Parts: sequence; structure tokens; C-alpha cells
Amino acid sequence: MKKKLPIVAICGRTNVGKSTLFNRLSETKKAITSPMPGTTRDLNYAEIAWGGKNFDLIDTGGLDVFDVKDLEKNIKLQIETALKKADLILFTIDGQENLVPQDKQIIRELVRQKKPVIIGINKIDNQQYRKKIDPAFERLGAKYSVPFSGHNGSGTGDLLDEIVKLLPQAKPREETEEYLKLAIVGRPNVGKSSLLNSILGEEKVVVSEIPHTTRDINDIEFTYKDKDYLLIDTAGIRKKAKVGKWKDKRVSAIEKEAVGSSLYAIKNADVVFLVLEAQKRLSDQDKKISQLAVDNSRGLVIVVNKWDLIEDKTEKTYNEYIKYFHQNLPWLAWAPMIFISALERQRVHEILELAQEVYEHQSKEVPQEELDQLLAMVIGKYRPKQKQTITFGQKKKRLMIDTLEQIDVNPPTFRLITPKPKNMPKAFPRLIEKHLREKYDFLGTAIKIFIEESE
Ligand code: GDP
Ligand code: GDP
Repeated sequence: MKKKLPIVAICGRTNVGKSTLFNRLSETKKAITSPMPGTTRDLNYAEIAWGGKNFDLIDTGGLDVFDVKDLEKNIKLQIETALKKADLILFTIDGQENLVPQDKQIIRELVRQKKPVIIGINKIDNQQYRKKIDPAFERLGAKYSVPFSGHNGSGTGDLLDEIVKLLPQAKPREETEEYLKLAIVGRPNVGKSSLLNSILGEEKVVVSEIPHTTRDINDIEFTYKDKDYLLIDTAGIRKKAKVGKWKDKRVSAIEKEAVGSSLYAIKNADVVFLVLEAQKRLSDQDKKISQLAVDNSRGLVIVVNKWDLIEDKTEKTYNEYIKYFHQNLPWLAWAPMIFISALERQRVHEILELAQEVYEHQSKEVPQEELDQLLAMVIGKYRPKQKQTITFGQKKKRLMIDTLEQIDVNPPTFRLITPKPKNMPKAFPRLIEKHLREKYDFLGTAIKIFIEESE
């Protein structure tokens, strides 16, 4: 099961440049920066590799969608999240401004914690700004402060150097985690917390009384039929109690948060349960969240909840829903679907068995001889149709493939080695995937196929 990477959390007041820095370090434009204070960002998670080390970066500012006006509450929430989730805290300030009392207080509090803290002095776009940095920043007791500019990137290399230098001092994560990590994700109100309750209420489910030392305190560890599970908390479940109090105008923020927090859970899970409502049509949110599971190559189970609300069900009703689902999300044809009622606890225990099954498929290794046979068979099938050639303008080029190998599990990852990767028709790896699935199923798991040039 996937080893957890150390987590670095970026915190700081609104508008100090957290998401600009996040984008710079992750080299993505996934987070949306905006000169408007408090602009919501929905994606706030990235894996970073620097100096031979890997870590996960989170922009806790991306979590501040609810009380953006309430500065203190917002920053408190960030710090709480950071302290809970992170191994290192990168507290960011705007170096073009003078230090504000709140920052001072927070930094003092942070350095008292056992976790390493780096003060990132942002917006130092050139030497002139560097000279003008408020000397008060240095008297705060943080051992490490790095001036940088998220905007033009200067100093961000130094910042990364400091981060990876301090990371080994961070609390080591357990090397082998023997539990199957699950995430329940989905839009608000689909029944995630009801499902969580009914799973934990199952007769044979035993929730661990002793909190695990290295896991997030909100995650839930339990045992079912001699197998250990860890349910990764998502804000969507934990904050659920507040849902009723939120005003309608905040719904879009909540929806965004559903995607953001799902991403955290998805990244850390072995198997993801995407919860849908049987009586509702699929929404863009559902598609987005399922795409996150696919992009991150996690195991996926489609949980169609509230099945009790569908009247006069027959075998046809299932098939119609499955057909509707596949028409809308054709790229998820491999994900198993289960129809449940969290409320009536119908088939709830089966989803744990399904998760185990998916995990076995994710970890499946296909022997090389069988891959050789499969490749030969697919090439054989492919030839009559395309005459083993493809057309580039006038020229016809032979399709030559040296070998098909499996290079990893969880997710099953393969590579096709060919002297001329450019000549590989797009349809060919898809055909390989189709035959791999026909023979080995790979239930609920994405398959990756790389094309590599032979040496
Ligand atoms: P967040 O609220 O902390 O996530 O802040 P943002 O990343 O959205 O940035 C807030 C504003 O500061 C935006 O207008 C950015 O363009 C600007 N900004 C961010 N980093 C820098 C920087 O290094 N230099 C300058 N001059 N402006 C920056
Ligand atoms: P969450 O926001 O995804 O955590 O959703 P909740 O678990 O809070 O459920 C939202 C609403 O749907 C609540 O009123 C639940 O009682 C209801 N609900 C959840 N599961 C079911 C179900 O299987 N059947 C029916 N009829 N209602 C359900």
C-alpha cells in the first residue's frame, strides 16, 4: 500500500501569495491566483520532487473558503490543519509589508510547536526589496527564513533547499502501512457521512480505540473480518454537521471544497468510494471527482446510494442505471458499481469486500510469458485490419514492438518498448488495455501503459 510522503503546508494571511508560491513550486496553474483577497482555490495539493526527495505540498489557504472575512478564524483553521496534517510548516508573509501583530503571534506559536517551521518572506522580487525587509522578521525566533519571489521564482530554489534539508527531521512516517486506505468522496448530501456511520455500525466492524500514532487524528482505523482499514477523513464528512447552517450563496464554495478535500483523500487512498445518488442525474462535480481518482490512478468503486428511494425496482432498473452511467462516464467502464442504501444499511458490508477485491486487482502481477503471449495475440489481431502499418502522409511504416512488460503494481503499469515510438498508433495501447482487462479483469483499477523507445 502506498507509502505516505512527508507533507509541507503553506500557511499565511490572505493575499501574501500562498497560491502563487504553490503554483510556482508545483509548476502547475491548477490553483487560481487572483488579486482579490480570499479568492477560492479548489485544488491545493501537489507532489514535489527536489534534491532527490519527494514531499506533498498543500496550500492550506485553499481551505479558507468558508470564513474568508473572519481573518483570525481563517488563519486559525489553516494552522490547525497544517499542524495536524503537515510535517513542516511554511509560514508565508508579504515581505513588501511591515510585520503585523497577528503574524508575530502566530509565528511565536508555531515555533513553540515541535514541527519545523520556515518563514517564507514573499514578494522579494529584486535586491531593492531585499534591503527593505522589515528587520522585525528576524527577531521572531524562527530559525529559518528565506526571502523569495513567488512571482518571478527568485529564491524559490533556496526555499526548496531549506525544505528538503529540514524534512528528515520531520517525524518519520511508518514504512509499512498494513491497512487498506479508503476514501469516501462525493458531492455534499449524497450520503457520505451516513455511509460512514453505517460502515462503522456494521456488526463485525471494530473501530480501533487506540489512536494510531502517525495518522491524521481524524482518520478512522477499523477492522472487518481480520482485515485492517483506514478511512481517510475528508472535510466533506467531518464538517457535515454544519451543512444545514450554511447559506445558499455559499453552496458553490462548498461544492468547490468537495473537490478540494476529495483530492487530498484520493491522493492518499488505495481505494476510493465515489458516492452518487440513485435518484439524481450525474453532475459535473461527480465527473470531476471521478476524474481525480482516475488521474491519480486510485482504485475506484462507484457507490450508488439512496437505492431505497427508487420505487418498483426490477433487474431492468439496475441495468438502466448502469447503462446511463456508462454513457455519461464511458472511461469508467472498469469501475465496479454497487447499489446501496446507507440509511437502511442495505449491502453496506459488501462494499468493504469490494474494496478488498479491487485492491487485489490493483496489486496483480502478470507473468512475463503471459504478457508475451498477449502481445503476440494483439499484434496478430491488429495486423489484418491495419496490415501492421500506419500511414503518415504517403509513407507506410511498419509497426514494430519489442516487448510488453509490467513495471509496477498499484496501479498496474506496463510499458511497450518499440524502436519507433512515434509510429505507435494511438489505438494500439488501448487495444492492449482492452485485452489485458478481458483476460485479467483489473476490476476497479486504472491501468497505465507507457510507450518507450528501445535502446
Ligand atoms: P494568497 O491569498 O496568499 O493565496 O495570495 P495569491 O497567491 O492569490 O497572491 C495575492 C496577490 O499577490 C496576487 O495579486 C499576486 O499576483 C501577488 N503576488 C504573489 N506573489 C508575489 C510576488 O512574489 N511578488 C509580487 N510583487 N506580487 C506577488
Ligand atoms: P453527505 O453530505 O454526503 O455526508 O450526506 P449525509 O450523509 O449527510 O446525507 C444527506 C441526506 O441524505 C441526509 O438527510 C440523509 O439522511 C440522507 N440519506 C443518506 N443516505 C441515504 C439513503 O441511503 N437513503 C435515503 N433515502 N436517504 C439517505
